Amino acid sequence: MGEITGDYNKLLERLYSKVPSKKHGHERFEMPKVEVIHIGSQTIIRNFREIADRLRRNPDILARYFLKELATAGNYDPESGILKVNIKVSSKSLNLLLEKFVQSYVICPTCGRPDTVLVKRGKAWVLVCEACGAEQPVKPI
Ligand SMILES: [Zn+2]
Repeated sequence: MGEITGDYNKLLERLYSKVPSKKHGHERFEMPKVEVIHIGSQTIIRNFREIADRLRRNPDILARYFLKELATAGNYDPESGILKVNIKVSSKSLNLLLEKFVQSYVICPTCGRPDTVLVKRGKAWVLVCEACGAEQPVKPI
């Protein structure tokens, strides 16, 4: 009965309750999970490109977000689609980070759907929802 697990579950519940199932077309949005391997002190996310594709986000932007939040260096390899991180991070931490990204940069705060695109307008970044048309300024990564 760890505090952290409880909060994590609450976070998930809150997240999923905000994501209504679509009436037509694609299946319900499911949070992708990272596939992680640790090599020495490095962490490798094997399915990084797949995750970015699922979220319809540029992998370079997602990589930049991860490395910034983890305050470390690393690199995304477009050939293999993996992200290498130069520190050891648990898959649980990475999944939480991914959820944070989705909350801030994928889910529309107005209607709760994931059908959004990130648009750059000069220096400003805007999350534009294709479902309800809402626009939300977000912090550039
Ligand atoms: Zn919306």
